Amino acid sequence: MSKQIQAIRGMNDCLPEQSGLWQWAEKAIREVVASYGYQEVRTPIVESTDLFKRSIGEVTDIVEKEMYTFADRNDDSLTLRPEGTASVVRAGNEHGLLYNQQQRLWYLGPMFRHERPQKGRYRQFHQFGVEVFGLAGPDIDAEVIALSARLWKKFGISEQVTLELNSLGSNEARETYRKALVEFLLARKEHLDEDSLRRLESNPLRVLDSKNPQVQAAITDAPSLIDYLDAESKEHFHALCERLDALGIQYRVNPRLVRGLDYYNRTVFEWVTDSLGAQGTVCAGGRYDGLVEQLGGKSTQGVGFAIGMERLVLMLQASGAEEFVASPVDVYVTAMGDEVELYALKIAESLRDVMPTLRVQTHFGGGNFKKQMKRADKSAARVALVLGETEQQDAQVSIKFLREDKPQIRIARSELESTLVELFSL
Ligand code: ATP
Ligand code: MG
Repeated sequence: MSKQIQAIRGMNDCLPEQSGLWQWAEKAIREVVASYGYQEVRTPIVESTDLFKRSIGEVTDIVEKEMYTFADRNDDSLTLRPEGTASVVRAGNEHGLLYNQQQRLWYLGPMFRHERPQKGRYRQFHQFGVEVFGLAGPDIDAEVIALSARLWKKFGISEQVTLELNSLGSNEARETYRKALVEFLLARKEHLDEDSLRRLESNPLRVLDSKNPQVQAAITDAPSLIDYLDAESKEHFHALCERLDALGIQYRVNPRLVRGLDYYNRTVFEWVTDSLGAQGTVCAGGRYDGLVEQLGGKSTQGVGFAIGMERLVLMLQASGAEEFVASPVDVYVTAMGDEVELYALKIAESLRDVMPTLRVQTHFGGGNFKKQMKRADKSAARVALVLGETEQQDAQVSIKFLREDKPQIRIARSELESTLVELFSL
């Protein structure tokens, strides 16, 4: 026997036992974004490597060590997208959707990062995100946060997530802060690891984002960005907090929150949870007013977030949300004997004509009553239609209840549709 080929490490299959929950979550997301009037964009999975270098920043985990980059047959450098924002901005610029316009957009799809796979961290993972363009005020920051909060509510996991909030201020304010931070870090050089020392030179704010506990301990008393904010950013942050308060959305101001990507300014936020172990961030986002211009467009404000779908699904599994996922089959149609097969086949097709939302599965492969009922049970259907020669001769149908303590009933074929409509409240 030849050796079986396995999936790439960190890239998962989504099997039937999980896909129901994924579809349920995706449907809820679509409903929520629609309720805010957001529209979907779909961009390619592969982009020019430069797009991510220029947007995410050269001195970030993603660009330094996580991207899947390769030369294609023309020797162009391409990269599997590690996140969604850069692609959406690229598409918006390319098709003239951004300048002097307002856009409320969303996307959902696979992203790729070469990280060490572990629970909640994979090499192919999925993000749902929103990106809003052309709105400068704190009201839209509050809206995208409210949209994310609505999702937790819809999923019944509001109790498990906490909103962390910070402001990065303007570029000038960050520059002043940067100087103060460098001074602080230089005095503690011996406690920094290799990554942090390098970042101290190139991008010192990134040191605050270090995941090394020793580095984190050394910087507990680092100066706070929030003390360096410019007056306008302060006002923006204050107005955002006011709106969140008015909406009853609780938050914790975390002056250490800088985010792992370079393009943010002013508002940054994360929804974090204790229920995922080390991978505690389920949603992250913020404002990125400079990005559109940085990628060659005319200056346009932007704000958005991304949710890690695998982390969300892990939380949903832990909270027992699978209960809400409907079984894939409502009605299992059996046929007792070769003679009845055509009768069964026609009934199944006619049910799909009349009740398109009813999930009908037909038994194939013959077998006795016991075998067919075993299959019916395994399908997780609520009822089985038991069709034998007598049923066919008398133009009748027997309905056997597979999950309820109710006796089997026999009805006229002509009453089948109305009986099922009532039974399944269609
Ligand atoms: P982390 O600090 O966990 O590495 P990040 O700052 O790199 O996260 P973002 O780039 O902000 O993450 O991505 C937004 C969200 O996407 C994260 O909060 C997380 O939920 C999810 N995410 C990021 N990387 C992965 C991954 N490798 N596997 C699964 N989900 C991920
Ligand atoms: Mg990361």
